[in-house]
Formats: sequence, C-alpha cells, structure tokens
Amino acid sequence: MRLLRHSGKTMPSQESTHPHTLTVTRTLRLKVKAEAYDWLNAAGCEVNLVWNWAAQVSEKAARPCTGDPKWLTGFDLNNLSSGASKYFDMIGADTIQRVNGEYAQKRRIARRYRLRWRTSRGPRRSLGWIPMKAASLNRKGRAVRFCGKTFRVFEPERLEGVKWKQGCFAQDAVGDWWLCLPIEVRVDESVAPLEKVGIDLGLKEVAVTSDGARCEKDRFYRGIEQKIAQAQRRGHRRQAKRLHRRAANRRKDALHKFSRQIVGQYQKIVVGDVSSPHLAKTRMAKSVLDAGWGMLRGYLQYKGQQAGRTVQVVSERNTSRTCSSCGSLSGPQGVNGLRVRHWMCCHCGEWHDRDVNAARNILRRAELPASVSGNELPSLRVPPSRARRSRKAGIEPVRTVA
Ligand SMILES: [Zn+2]
Repeated sequence: MRLLRHSGKTMPSQESTHPHTLTVTRTLRLKVKAEAYDWLNAAGCEVNLVWNWAAQVSEKAARPCTGDPKWLTGFDLNNLSSGASKYFDMIGADTIQRVNGEYAQKRRIARRYRLRWRTSRGPRRSLGWIPMKAASLNRKGRAVRFCGKTFRVFEPERLEGVKWKQGCFAQDAVGDWWLCLPIEVRVDESVAPLEKVGIDLGLKEVAVTSDGARCEKDRFYRGIEQKIAQAQRRGHRRQAKRLHRRAANRRKDALHKFSRQIVGQYQKIVVGDVSSPHLAKTRMAKSVLDAGWGMLRGYLQYKGQQAGRTVQVVSERNTSRTCSSCGSLSGPQGVNGLRVRHWMCCHCGEWHDRDVNAARNILRRAELPASVSGNELPSLRVPPSRARRSRKAGIEPVRTVA
C-alpha cells in the first residue's frame, strides 16, 4: 500500500529521517498588479499566434495533400519554429517552445487533427495565457522579471524561499492576470483519528456525513444573484463578472474547508457517484450547479491522496430509500420524496434523517464485496442481523440527528 502511494504523483522526500513526510506539488497563484496588464494582453495575442500556427502546421502534416501523414510532436514543432522568436516583440523562445509542447500534448490526448483556434479579439476571445519555463522567470527584489520586464504582484512575500517549476501567466474572466507557479511543498503524512466516513452529496446541503456533519451551501450564488442581475441590467458587464468570481471563490473556499476537515479526521472516505450533468438538465439545475459536487469529490481525492487516505467512490443508487438499519427499501422516493427531510422506517421503526441515512448507506456500500455479475440490484436483499451489522459497520444506531 505504501509503495503504491509513493509511485504516484506524490514522491517521497529525500529526508529518510522523516518517513512520514511527503513532497507534493501545489500551485501558487499571485495576482499581478494592473500596470502590467497592457504588456500581458499583447503577449497573450502573440501566444495565440504561436498556438494557431502550431494548429495549422500539425493539421497539414497529419492530413497532407500528398505523401505520408505525420503526427507532429512538440519536438518537431520546436524544430520547425526555431528562430521565430525574433519576429515577436514580447515573448521569447522558451514561451514558444512551451506553447508547442502544450499544443502537441493536448492534441495527442484529444486525438484530434486540430484543436480549437485561440482567438485574440471579439466576444469569443480566449482568456490570455502565457506559459514560461522555470529558468526564464527570475526574482528581482520583491518583484519578478520575465522577458526583460519587471512584474509586481500582490502578496510578494508568498514567493519567498520557494523554488518554482515552469508556470504561466493566466487571465481570468474578469480580465485580471495571475501568475501561476507550481511549487513543491512538504506535507506530513499522518494517521487520522477516526476510522471511516460516508458522504452523501445533496442539494439542500452540499454534503452530509454519516456522522451527521454538514457542509452548508451558504447560498454561494443566491445571495448575490440580485446584485448580478442588477449589474447586468445596467450594462455593467465587468461588475457582473466580478460578482460571479466572488461567488465562485466563496464556493471553492467552503469546499476546501470542508474537504480539509474530512481528510484531517477520517482514514477511509467514501463518496457517492452522483453526477451533475444529468441533474443539471432538470428543474433543479441552478441548485446543482451551485453545489459543486464534482469539485468537492476532486478535492477529497487529491487531499486524501496527499495525506495517505483511502478515497472510494460508490454507486449512489437507492441510498436515500434504503433504511440503514434494516436494509429495507422503506424510504421516500421520487420527486415528492425530495421534500421529506425525516422519515421513519416502517419495518424496524428507526427514525432517520434523510441525508445522514444516505451517507450511512454509502459508507456501508463500500464495505460490501463488489458485485460479480455486475447487473444485480445494488440494494441489500437479505438484511444482515443487527448485531452483525453494528459490528461490521461500526455504527451506533443514533436515533435522530437534528
Ligand atoms: Zn428499517
């Protein structure tokens, strides 16, 4: 198990005296001061030129009029574009090479002849992106230097003492630029105080654990929805985008805090496989898009991996209908059933909180052996005896969790 974990993205540190320390990669994001935006916008257009050139050339090579088709690699593109940097005012050879490499890699993954063009102007403009190599970004006092220009950033103290890898300047939808640098951080691998937890992802609350802890939705969007609508009516598009960004940041913050807390507490984490694209088409679309289940699952997975936890995704089917005490399908169902927050099992008389019950079922589903034939019902057909269930799941039958 240990070996497996170390063979992944997280590599063990060289320090053999601390076997429980891992080195993981995190991205440092620093906002660039507005004085450099003009330069960055111009450089972003040059990056788009390089990208579109790479797209054109590699498509021609893959579908030539005559001769054998060739699937160009980043190395081929670099050879073809050598010496091109003298035709650009802002970007240098290292950025061109990074763009080429990135293009070739993305195209290989997408298995397409050509990726989408990058557009510099108009309403469908691509968000700016200027990749760089680690060596071409240097410190200069509290600022950084890139391509002969000095960039001041907010919170420059976060750059102190870190060693970065190749990063980029990236623009967000509001039009602000960010310096993004992957850095290596040491994290302590520890054993969690509690054994395991099941997490039910829902609409009323984003997530509820089998122990009754909740990640309240806090109405990420709903609170500032009116402000967004107002700004849009008045034609303040930038203001509206800013508000959207604030809502997104709030949501991310809440999900980060919740996932950090879960990973800090539990050794084994089980999540339901509920998918948002399916529900986003229904009437509940706005709530679903607010909730950010995929994001939360992603955070749990990478944080869990970094801390040495087991994170498992299981089918969510019937988990809110099944009684977690006796296993019968006695719970509320259908669209109307969504309104029922508490219910009583008609077989064993257990009083359930809807979400906590579902989370317990999710936790227990991870402990069942995997289905062999693959098409049998995921619900329990034979309810295990009470004693055995308690022993196996380690759940005390809590009466109500308000
Ligand atoms: Zn029951």
